[in-house]
Amino acid sequence: MVDDATGQGHQQYGSLQNKISMRVIGRGGANILIDYGDPSWLWRCCVRWPDLLSSNNAYTLKNIQYIRKDVEPLLNGLLCPMDLIDVDVDIIRPILITFISNLDEKVVKVIKIKNLVNKSTTTLIQNDHLLKSYFTQDFQTIFLELKPKWVYYDMEYCRNCTHNALKGREAKYCYNQLLLNPSHLEAIFGDCKMYSDKFKAAMIEYFNSDNNVFKMLYDLQKKLTENTTAIENLESIDDVKDELLLLMTLRDVTCFIEWTGTRNALSVNVIDVDLKPKKKWTHWAKTHSQLESGKKVFHASK
Ligand SMILES: [Zn+2]
Repeated sequence: MVDDATGQGHQQYGSLQNKISMRVIGRGGANILIDYGDPSWLWRCCVRWPDLLSSNNAYTLKNIQYIRKDVEPLLNGLLCPMDLIDVDVDIIRPILITFISNLDEKVVKVIKIKNLVNKSTTTLIQNDHLLKSYFTQDFQTIFLELKPKWVYYDMEYCRNCTHNALKGREAKYCYNQLLLNPSHLEAIFGDCKMYSDKFKAAMIEYFNSDNNVFKMLYDLQKKLTENTTAIENLESIDDVKDELLLLMTLRDVTCFIEWTGTRNALSVNVIDVDLKPKKKWTHWAKTHSQLESGKKVFHASK
């Protein structure tokens, strides 16, 4: 129980926070990212279920347990710092009510996650589906936000490039090609002249090393692919095993690489490591059959 004075104080704090600084700065199909006034941290709220907060809370609890137990141990310490916290529903109500119609619990299960790019002190330079880059004003710090997707594939055609073609996205580079040949970075950075030679050299050295984050994901995806039922062989939800869910998580992560020019040092973090609902299998199967019947993109060397 909360006494009157404390309860009132808490509510005032909540409305004050909302007026001053709380705002949504990112949204995907299943989550929103909230800037709540602390430049170092963000709140990540699940909004996958638009009807009930309790459904989203139950999923968030399951998700954080999954991340800790099944995902974090695989990532060699690269998982972005995050913690589960309880936030009074009144503090987020004005934001949340536009995403979830019935706020049926008193607390919101929130994942507090480290803010890897301060968007108020950086400028977005490159912005496409698989890569975003941000620079500080003095160009001494560069942040790359990369989506490696299916960095390993076992079909004849390149899964990422074929999927880009299916979606009508023209991509002049391919992360599978980067793994084979780090000088492919030139294609990734394209005509953009803002990347210094020092930065490019550090990136090439990183992708030449055997323990770079894409190689790590490649090895994990390869091992799991070899030990799971292929998507085209799924017949019902009962065929969707934990290994496949983990594989689908690892095919949908985001990697952040931060380069600090003064130290010429790279720092790498992995985010977006969420548990996929099993019912998504029909969507995966549909995408697979679309890829199979569409225009395929092949690479000469694999
Ligand atoms: Zn490709």
